[in-house]
Amino acid sequence: MIKARDNYTIESLKELWEKEFSDLPFEAVVKQDILRQGMVFTASALNVAEYKKKDYFIFTFDRAPLKDIPEHTRAPEEIRIFTDDKTPGVTKILPTVISVRLNPTSPYKLDADGEGNVKLYLADEAIANAIYPPIPAYYKEKYSFGSPIGEVAPAIEWGYLIYLTVFRNCQYFGKDEECQFCDINHNWRQQKREGRPYTGVKNPEHVVEALERIAATDSVAKAFTITGGSVTGKLGGKDEVEFYLQFPRKISASLKEHFISKLVIQAWELDDCKKAVDAGVKIYHPNYEVWDVELFKKVCPGKERYIGRDNWIRRVVQSAEAFGAKYVIPNFVGGVEMADNVGFTDIDKAVESTSEGLDFFMSKGIIPRFTTWCPEPFTPLGETSAPAPLLYYLKLLRSYKAIHKKYALEVPPGYGDAGVGKAVFSVSAFMDVL
Ligand code: SF4
Repeated sequence: MIKARDNYTIESLKELWEKEFSDLPFEAVVKQDILRQGMVFTASALNVAEYKKKDYFIFTFDRAPLKDIPEHTRAPEEIRIFTDDKTPGVTKILPTVISVRLNPTSPYKLDADGEGNVKLYLADEAIANAIYPPIPAYYKEKYSFGSPIGEVAPAIEWGYLIYLTVFRNCQYFGKDEECQFCDINHNWRQQKREGRPYTGVKNPEHVVEALERIAATDSVAKAFTITGGSVTGKLGGKDEVEFYLQFPRKISASLKEHFISKLVIQAWELDDCKKAVDAGVKIYHPNYEVWDVELFKKVCPGKERYIGRDNWIRRVVQSAEAFGAKYVIPNFVGGVEMADNVGFTDIDKAVESTSEGLDFFMSKGIIPRFTTWCPEPFTPLGETSAPAPLLYYLKLLRSYKAIHKKYALEVPPGYGDAGVGKAVFSVSAFMDVL
């Protein structure tokens, strides 16, 4: 059963915003609610002009198994919502990009009229217009490899980011090792079952060919991310550092000049971080997932066993010596610290704990970012918990903004424009509120 918590109508959402959170843009309120609740598409909403479809670039980010949501093959990667003079009776919404997370029971529904105009409904009330991302020109090019380009080098964030999941599994395997919110291995199994082409380990030559074509044909993509699951043993005869660094090492200096290069991987020792810098990596994301000491052990048992939370944090801090503090951007999964039966039950205590981590890193010039937890099926937390409450996300956004301001930090690099109406980062509203 898909669990829900604190459902809103447009009236109650507006009331909450006006009374308690008017310091945040209304767009951020709606975005966070949609991200935690997911959305559902009617058949007509998926029968509009061509658009870029969801490429399942690393996780499912869906609330139900793929077999239960056949429309997953046609869902767009993201939606961009906005209001205009004709949108009836709701607060103005500037263009806001939101990642698509399918949930057949969500109160947020996309539906289209006979002319292909899509609207977003909350509890059956139209609240905004919606458009889908265009298909990048490079999706229509021919390549020497047989896989679809969306499998090799998918575009997300409205085309801004090329997401290169070069290893689609994680060697933290099974419920005693996998991060308890993560469905990378379950996603892989589901995609294979669905018959989708889904390469486990990417060929560096294919990645280079794709990036060359993108650089030649596309002006929207500005960054690429190299990532995948952790390698605790060997992969193709290489350890984790050598496996992942073979990709940036193969990419030419001019491509690394053209794109901002990012690496999302475990927390490495300083010497290995220096190797990454030498390989041309600009931005490093050693994701710490959750700040609280005890929750880290429970939520990330593999990371705790192989590296340990203290080591992880120490390595994140030391990596600033290699990359420069502002280029170290560790992610946490906002909301897992409130997972039922595991995390905090008190919203303020959860935000306080997470804010302690934010303050710790930001005081050193390191700016964490967060994604919004999507309780995915098959994962230990996703099977047993509802999403975190909306109030948690709004208080977190407020705290994030305040700590960022306290240390007079810049907008983190590699995410495009910040600010409401401009941000393209689609899996949380942190860029919308800066
Ligand atoms: S380290 Fe954790 S979050 Fe990362 S891929 Fe493995 S299980 Fe998922």
